[in-house]
Formats: sequence, C-alpha cells, structure tokens
Amino acid sequence: MTAREDHDIVVAGGGPAGCALATLLQREGHRCLVLEASTFPRYHIGESLIPHTHGTLSRLGLLEALRRSTYPVKHSVRFVSPAGSSSDPFYFSETIEGEGSRTWQVERSSFDALCVDHARASGVDVRMNAPIERVHFDGDRAVGVTVRPAPRESYDVAAKVVVDATGRRTLIGDQLGLKAPVPGLLKGSLWSYYRGGARLEGIDAGETTVFLLRGGGWFWYIPLPEDIVSVGVVDDPQRLFQEGLSPEASYDAQVAACEPLAARLTQAERNDRVRGLRELAYRNRRMAGDGWVMIGDAAAFLDPIYSSGLYLALGSAELAAESIHDALQVDDPSSTRLGAHLDLLGEGVAVIEKLIRAFYTPGFSFRRFVERHPEHRAALIDCLVGDVIGKKMTAFTNALDDMLSAAARN
Ligand SMILES: Cc1cc2nc3c(=O)[nH]c(=O)nc-3n(C[C@H](O)[C@H](O)[C@H](O)COP(=O)(O)OP(=O)(O)OC[C@H]3O[C@@H](n4cnc5c(N)ncnc54)[C@H](O)[C@@H]3O)c2cc1C
Repeated sequence: MTAREDHDIVVAGGGPAGCALATLLQREGHRCLVLEASTFPRYHIGESLIPHTHGTLSRLGLLEALRRSTYPVKHSVRFVSPAGSSSDPFYFSETIEGEGSRTWQVERSSFDALCVDHARASGVDVRMNAPIERVHFDGDRAVGVTVRPAPRESYDVAAKVVVDATGRRTLIGDQLGLKAPVPGLLKGSLWSYYRGGARLEGIDAGETTVFLLRGGGWFWYIPLPEDIVSVGVVDDPQRLFQEGLSPEASYDAQVAACEPLAARLTQAERNDRVRGLRELAYRNRRMAGDGWVMIGDAAAFLDPIYSSGLYLALGSAELAAESIHDALQVDDPSSTRLGAHLDLLGEGVAVIEKLIRAFYTPGFSFRRFVERHPEHRAALIDCLVGDVIGKKMTAFTNALDDMLSAAARN
C-alpha cells in the first residue's frame, strides 16, 4: 500500500464511539484521524442514555455541555402493561447518589455533532464526507485504509492501528466475513417522531416509558427537546413488515392498537417519516486482530430494550483506548494487546444479553424474580443502569438462569 499520509490511529466512523476513542487517545499524545462517511449534523436513532455513561462522559469532558443543553433530564424508566397499568417509576437515585443518578434523552444529530466538535477541540483530525472503502491488510495485519471522498479521488492512509467504529455498517466485519446473526434475538423495529405528545409532570417528565404489547413486543416513548417525542416499536419482524403493508401503515396500526400509548398521543401529530430495521441483532465472531479493533455497534448490537447502545459504544471506546495506548507504548499492536479488554467487556455484555433474553421469555417476569430473590434486587438495578462491566454477578445470573429454565418448562 502506497499511502498519501500516515497516522498512529485511523478511526473509521465519527459517531459517539469513534469520537470518544479518538479524543481519549489524542490526549495521550497519539495522532488520531477520524474518517466519517457522512456530513454532520446527520440523523441517527438511539436517543436514551443510561446513568452509567456518566463516568465516560465526565472523563471525556462532555458533562458541562450536557448540563447546559435542552435535552430532557431522565431520572427514571417506567413499564406500562398492555392493559394500561403502570409500574412505579424506577428512579435511578434508588441506587446511585448524586448527579450520576440522572442522565439525558439526547437528540442524536446535535449530540453526535457535539462529540465531533469536542474531538476536534482536543486536537483530533476529523474529516467529513470521507467514507472508507476498505481496510488494507499485510497478511493478517491491518495497515491502513482507502478513503473515497466523492467526487474527489480516493486516497490511502497508513496507520499503526485501524479502529472500526462504523456502527451497523460493520466495515471490518463485512470485509472479513465475521458478522453473524444472534440466534433467538430476531427482532425488528419501526419508529418515528411526534410533536405534542403528553408529558408527565415534574421529574417524571423526562422518563423513558416502555409500553408492553401482548405477544412480547414493546414501544419506547422518549421525550426530546422542542416538544418532540421519539416513539418506536420493537417486535417480531414478521408482524412489523407484512407483505403489502407499507412501513407507515404498519407503524400507524401498531400505535393505534396500543391503547395506553395512543392515549398519550391524542393531541400529537406525527411530524416525521417512519424508519425501520428488519433485523436488529448481530455480532462479530472476532472483535480484534493484529492492527485492528472494533468498538460500539461495529462490534455488535443486541436489542434496544435497556437503552444500552450508547453506554456500550462509549464504554467499549474507553476500554479499547486503554488497550491501544498500552499496545502502542510497547510498539506491539497485536491482536492480544488490542483485544486485551474484550473478556472484561464480554462478561458485562453477557449479563445484558441474559437480561434481554429474560425480557422476551414468555412466562418470565422481573417482578416475580425479585419477589422470589429479594437479595438480587440490587444486582438487577445495577444491570438496568448499566453497572455491569467489571462486576462479579454469578449468583445473580445463576438465579436468573434457574427462573428462565423454569419458565421454559411451563
Ligand atoms: C431501533 C434502535 C433503537 C435504539 N435506541 C437506543 C437508545 O434508546 N439508547 C441507546 O443508548 N442506544 C440505542 N440504540 C443503539 C444506538 O443507536 C447505537 O448503539 C449507537 O448509535 C452506537 O454508536 P456508534 O458510535 O458505535 O455507531 P454510530 O452512531 O452508528 O456511528 C457510526 C458512524 O460511522 C459512519 N460510517 C459508516 N460507515 C462508514 C465508512 N465506511 N467510513 C466512514 N464512516 C462510516 C456512519 O456515518 C456513522 O456516523 C438504538 C438502536 C436501534 C437500532
């Protein structure tokens, strides 16, 4: 590969994961280049943060901007049954003290632009309209990328480490054939936005409300700035994407059929088109190799039920930044060093995956689980706020397994 320029680290994708990683590594003195395919601000789904993003956002230096923002403050999550009965709100302050017990519902176009601006202010070279066409390998080792910025000519960039932060595009996963579906998690989604949806009062005004549907699906209801609400349904793709039914017609029918949700929208008007994804879940069989590592959605995405996407994007970026820094300190960007954090991350993700599968298991209920195992209530709450990385949760997950097996037998 004859490169036009070279950098320590080339990051493919300027979303929250890519920008967080580049910001942290640039501060450590590594020369980072972020290549982003689109031009910001750009639309993105995934608006609800969970409290345990607080640590990474604080270390990045983004908290002050979030405090000044008009993003609704999220103190809690609430579940509403198909018949309309509402659980008590689950307030994060039950287990977390201080400012870390609340978080934000972010409009992604401005939040992601904030992450880019912050990376640039930290010295990162961020280029828009710079889609990476492919990653170059010398044998098994990633050595750089080809960028094709339309309508200009393509060029090559060499790097000691290539980071795949391309989100669902999964650049390296596709190129190396590593991407695979996740058996048992076959869900799709349709979503849109309303102006004028009803808001709750006081500290509940910024909550995420989850409306449960008969048959295992659910809606999110996420208040955003300027009187906008994000409303999306997650369910069996066969139900959401029926032949002869447009995504709009399918979405509108699902909203109308969910009476407790429709009641919140009586004064509201849908003010955007309906977007959708037929298959939400996937993961890569490997997430690091010689000279490369994947972070955020480029590595895996499971399900949005616990709003863990941005938490894992930022968390995996921070952990990978440490691995890359350590590898470059000893001039050894090998698979072992670049993936040094993956076991720790994988253990945390496995706990989240177990909870996701529990949510979709017919006959399983978290209320009954906590009634039978009050000693595990705190661990369950830790999972819901995202406090799962680096925690020993074997007793909790064993108890969960027992109840899931019992639910499967009945
Ligand atoms: C239906 C749904 C609902 C969700 N709800 C939530 C939620 O409520 N809360 C939550 O935390 N998460 C949610 N998520 C997940 C969340 O959207 C993602 O986890 C998060 O955006 C991942 O961030 P990222 O930086 O890894 O990837 P992204 O934010 O996707 O950023 C990747 C970037 O890479 C760029 N790119 C792609 N290909 C290339 C290329 N070849 N070259 C250069 N650049 C490239 C893209 O343009 C993009 O800007 C949801 C996801 C879905 C599907």
